[in-house]
Amino acid sequence: MRLILTNCSVLGKETRDIYIADGKFCEAFGEADADRIIDVKGALVTPGLVDMHVHFREPGQEYKEDIGSGSRAAARGGFTSVCCMPNTSPVVDNAAVVRSIVKRGKDVGLCRVYPIGSASKGLNGEELSEIGLMKEAGIVAVSDDGKPISTAGFMRKVLEYCADFDVPVLNHCEDKSLSGGAMNEGPVSTSIGIRGIPSASEDVMIARDIIIAEYLGLPVHLCHVSTKGGMRMIREAKARGVRVTCETCPHYFTLTDNYCENYSSNYKMHPPLGTQEDVDAVIEAIVDGTVDCIVTDHAPHHQDEKEIEFSLALNGIVGLESSFALAYTYLVKTGKITLDRLMDLMCHNPSDILKLGRGGMNIGDDADLAVFDIDNEFVFDKNKMLTKGRNTPYDGWKLYGETMLTVMGGNITYEKLC
Ligand SMILES: [Zn+2]
Repeated sequence: MRLILTNCSVLGKETRDIYIADGKFCEAFGEADADRIIDVKGALVTPGLVDMHVHFREPGQEYKEDIGSGSRAAARGGFTSVCCMPNTSPVVDNAAVVRSIVKRGKDVGLCRVYPIGSASKGLNGEELSEIGLMKEAGIVAVSDDGKPISTAGFMRKVLEYCADFDVPVLNHCEDKSLSGGAMNEGPVSTSIGIRGIPSASEDVMIARDIIIAEYLGLPVHLCHVSTKGGMRMIREAKARGVRVTCETCPHYFTLTDNYCENYSSNYKMHPPLGTQEDVDAVIEAIVDGTVDCIVTDHAPHHQDEKEIEFSLALNGIVGLESSFALAYTYLVKTGKITLDRLMDLMCHNPSDILKLGRGGMNIGDDADLAVFDIDNEFVFDKNKMLTKGRNTPYDGWKLYGETMLTVMGGNITYEKLC
């Protein structure tokens, strides 16, 4: 495919044409040699986005999502690379499952699908997975996400073992002994009669991981950080040189636990939505550099698992098709951060932390890009989503940054006619 995109506002800085051949960005060639010429009419063009935290549910729970539907949702969100968490069925704890996911991702061919292996066999929190063999088969990190890495002693073992293989460790921060509830513990949970989870559940685990990483001098990455206390500890740890990185999600800077008042499980996730103070702290941490990445924690569920009583509903929401627009609308359009900073959060930093080598737009780089309409407001419609999940809290929200086109490896993977 030889493709020319004309009138591209590249990162909002310069308007130029982009030439793509053989899957790479290339020097200009004549229009007669192009298979296709698309005029994007001054729309924003960015490198393809990278989401280092998604749940594609394959193998085993394809009724919720599969690598095909997940990849289509990713492409529609402007993503060209995603990293899949290992809490599938079977768990991604051996090289054979890793190879099958890599193959499925390539066969679908709509997104670069990078598997993450589990830290412990079957997520049992006791026995190390086949980390070395999984690395050879293609994992880019390990995590027991969905669950925390069980104990401090096991975390030490995982960090030391992974350091030998140069594999990043990502931890879901939750102290299970504190977290029996269904939403944030506070005035809202009390008033609506839902059992709460104290923010201390997340904070205790963040403190533990910082202490162990600092003691060992090894890196650790903390998943979906949502609390004021967690952000403060990470900021302080970074300032004294601890090798800690972290991510947050759009729902932690756009929603508070007040939304749970309607008992809709589209506001139920883990960690739970916090207070306005938490939201303000997350935004402050995004602005000041404490937060390294924005991820979706894309967690599709079947309606029968979600559209039930709040306390019984499963945790999580879908996010791939709304995250860029939410981040653009609430962070960049409001002037809190620059577009360049957003690109670090949604492309360059996750690529660097997991050594994916993504995000380049120079001649010879893989042609991964996304085109967004940042000038016109659009209404986010859950019925237009390409994920199998319908569990989004953003249905009907008015946003900027609708995806117009996504290109991965020189192929068009999503197109809303420009
Ligand atoms: Zn998690």
